[in-house]
Amino acid sequence: MVIEHKKIAIVGGGPGGLTLARLLQMKGADVKVYERDAHKNVRVQGATLDLHEESGLEALRRAGLMEGFTANYRPDAGKLKILDKDFKVYLDEHSLLNSHSEDRPEIDRSPLRKILLESLQPDTVVWDSHFISMEKKDNGWLLHCKNNKSYYADLVIGAEGARSKIRSYLTGIQPVYSGVTMVEGNIANAEINALEIFKWANGGKIFALDESKSLLLSIKGDGTLTFYTGCNVDENWVRESGIDFSKKEQVFEWFKNEFHTWDKRWNELFESENVVIIPRPQYYYPLDQAWETQSDLTLLGDAAHVMPPYAGEGVNMAMQDAFELAECLADQKFRTIKEALKQYEKNMLKRASEMTAATLDNTNLIHAEGAVDHLLKMFNGE
Ligand SMILES: Cc1cc2nc3c(=O)[nH]c(=O)nc-3n(C[C@H](O)[C@H](O)[C@H](O)COP(=O)(O)OP(=O)(O)OC[C@H]3O[C@@H](n4cnc5c(N)ncnc54)[C@H](O)[C@@H]3O)c2cc1C
Repeated sequence: MVIEHKKIAIVGGGPGGLTLARLLQMKGADVKVYERDAHKNVRVQGATLDLHEESGLEALRRAGLMEGFTANYRPDAGKLKILDKDFKVYLDEHSLLNSHSEDRPEIDRSPLRKILLESLQPDTVVWDSHFISMEKKDNGWLLHCKNNKSYYADLVIGAEGARSKIRSYLTGIQPVYSGVTMVEGNIANAEINALEIFKWANGGKIFALDESKSLLLSIKGDGTLTFYTGCNVDENWVRESGIDFSKKEQVFEWFKNEFHTWDKRWNELFESENVVIIPRPQYYYPLDQAWETQSDLTLLGDAAHVMPPYAGEGVNMAMQDAFELAECLADQKFRTIKEALKQYEKNMLKRASEMTAATLDNTNLIHAEGAVDHLLKMFNGE
């Protein structure tokens, strides 16, 4: 095995990095995960994740973690309602016996992280290790972190998400703006702070689509409601809009203006004091991106192929990268790490390109006139 007696550094303890660490440890590898979060109990932001059979679930299966998943997944969390701006219902999976959501079970980010963390050998994750830079040393890299500590590794895997710094050591290819910017809001204790919409969601998801805009929301197991508006705006809108996104009142003013034809019941999303807002312009990498394979460095997950979330593929792709990379690194047929990485990157970039194309189709469809009709047709396999 080409990674025998090699020190492997995975930078980033998201779903991709932790899955890889688990799978490599199962193969006897020497792995550390350098994660910027201060400790294992830091709250993980973001909506629930649906795991797909051939990717996210397959990764957990290979990692021997399906039992943990089955104990923690949320059967009703994926049930979807499709509405228009006036709350007219076009699809309600809560009333269907067999729904599309059953093939894609949902789990919250925190329990998924916990399952993966608990599967690792003690002290695998080095918390509070915010990667800053690295330099060549011997046959590998010396990694420097914000906490003034440095670590040596023979092989570095950048798994630190969309704003990867490690990516720049491999390629200068820049992300492309998708045309859509999301505004994310998290409302703690939504049963109290946004009761009407909480009831509408019924423990599941809502996609409200109209006038080339989207409003997606879901309820997490801890009672938090996470919502995302999606609008076609210029790339620099967040800066140029003049909105201070840390001031809820300013964002609410923008929402009332931008969504002024939408039913006033949606305003509830901004009315409580308990909403935390983050603007998120959506990017992707060119479909033909490629780089020269290195012998001691690669990427996985969002660091390699960030894409908008409108096909729900991001976490699934990251976890598939993890099991494909682990397989390549442990495959006896490769004589060098570089050969193994070459095979991994070839397959990963092709798959990511196809998934990015499908995601961009969905992104455009959801933010165009007639979005509800298009989505219903898609669900019906047309
Ligand atoms: C608004 C939004 C909604 C989404 N919805 C969905 C969805 O419904 N379904 C889906 O499949 N995907 C969704 N995604 C995408 C999904 O969250 C990502 O694709 C997935 O989390 C990628 O996993 P990852 O392990 O590559 O990176 P991440 O999950 O981003 O993890 C990266 C890790 O690296 C750490 N890190 C970052 N920088 C450093 C550093 N410098 N040094 C050390 N550590 C660092 C971070 O703290 C984090 O723990 C969504 C994304 C967004 C933004």
